[in-house]
Amino acid sequence: MGAVVLEGVEKSFDGIKVCSQIDLSINKGEFFTFLGPSGCGKTTLLRLIAGFITPQSGAVFIDGNEVTKLPPEKRKVGMVFQNYSLFPYLTVGQNIEYGLTIQKKSARERQKIVELYMDMVGLSGFGGRKVTELSGGEQQRVALARSLAVEPEVLLLDEPLSNLDARLRDKMRSEIKSLQKRLGITTIFVTHDQTEALTLSDRIAVFDKGRVVQVGTPKEIYDTPGNVFVAGFVGDTNLFRVTRSGNTIRLESGIKLNIPSTSGPGNWLSIRPQNIRISAKPIHEPNSFQGRLLEKQLNGVWIDSIIEVGSTVLRVAELNTFEMKGELQPGDNVWVTLPENGLRLLED
Ligand code: ADP
Ligand code: MG
Repeated sequence: MGAVVLEGVEKSFDGIKVCSQIDLSINKGEFFTFLGPSGCGKTTLLRLIAGFITPQSGAVFIDGNEVTKLPPEKRKVGMVFQNYSLFPYLTVGQNIEYGLTIQKKSARERQKIVELYMDMVGLSGFGGRKVTELSGGEQQRVALARSLAVEPEVLLLDEPLSNLDARLRDKMRSEIKSLQKRLGITTIFVTHDQTEALTLSDRIAVFDKGRVVQVGTPKEIYDTPGNVFVAGFVGDTNLFRVTRSGNTIRLESGIKLNIPSTSGPGNWLSIRPQNIRISAKPIHEPNSFQGRLLEKQLNGVWIDSIIEVGSTVLRVAELNTFEMKGELQPGDNVWVTLPENGLRLLED
């Protein structure tokens, strides 16, 4: 049995279903991410696992034991809340010590553990500081140390990076990952940010409106999205409604494309911007069309282009290498190829 198992978990507030039939099994030591847009029930599910709320139906297991109705302190979980929820009137040391007092550890033991975890998150010597005097990043570290100090079986992190500025976010992201690997602790990480999910996770569950729509490794989720929602939410893509006959599909604009004979069913076409090829000269290959460059934007590593083919608008991304001559300008004619292998049919 997984380290955390959810079986048919359902939660409603005031008759409105927020989590629907959630079945998940998270392995011991795994870095597992709940990814989805705001309001899709991620925090609610995390609180159900922590024990702050109970489901109307279904069961929660931690380490093989059913904990559905147990209070948080009996579940061996540590949680970092989105707003950190530190005690403002306590020092850094006292915040980290808090859970240990509940565990009835001796003063000496508590002191040792507090030092250990302050050191682990890079806050040695901060014990006597007031948490209100700390920066956002430092508060984040206190919250992390506080949740780890009780030595939980499972670490729950609710959007822990969302209040930090971009540079600090990148730094904390890699620190959290290396700490998690070092401790080998089963971790559930909640985010609405696809980059965080793709870079940190062993596996991801993608949520849409209170349901899990796909579970997989970052590569599986990105390369083989299970439906049109996942394709659009994880990574950029071009999406078009299509009708199919045999190995040909037709976009609403009239464009016809050959698709691989192995294509699954679906009335949506997804093609990632980096899978479309651009040329300043005519291309004589299948799935190639003449179009017009509408916009071009340099993003550093990438050059993003908007190209119009008839009434179809395509977003294209090219790697910005030294070989790029930048000869194409908005208004120019261009030729695009949508290679068969880059085309994916998806269902709603
Ligand atoms: P997420 O974390 O994915 O943004 P939440 O789990 O916080 O989503 O919320 C999902 C939905 O449940 C939202 O519509 C939210 O307003 C609602 N909700 C969450 N907690 C409560 C509550 N205690 N009472 C009523 N509605 C709630
Ligand atoms: Mg939330």
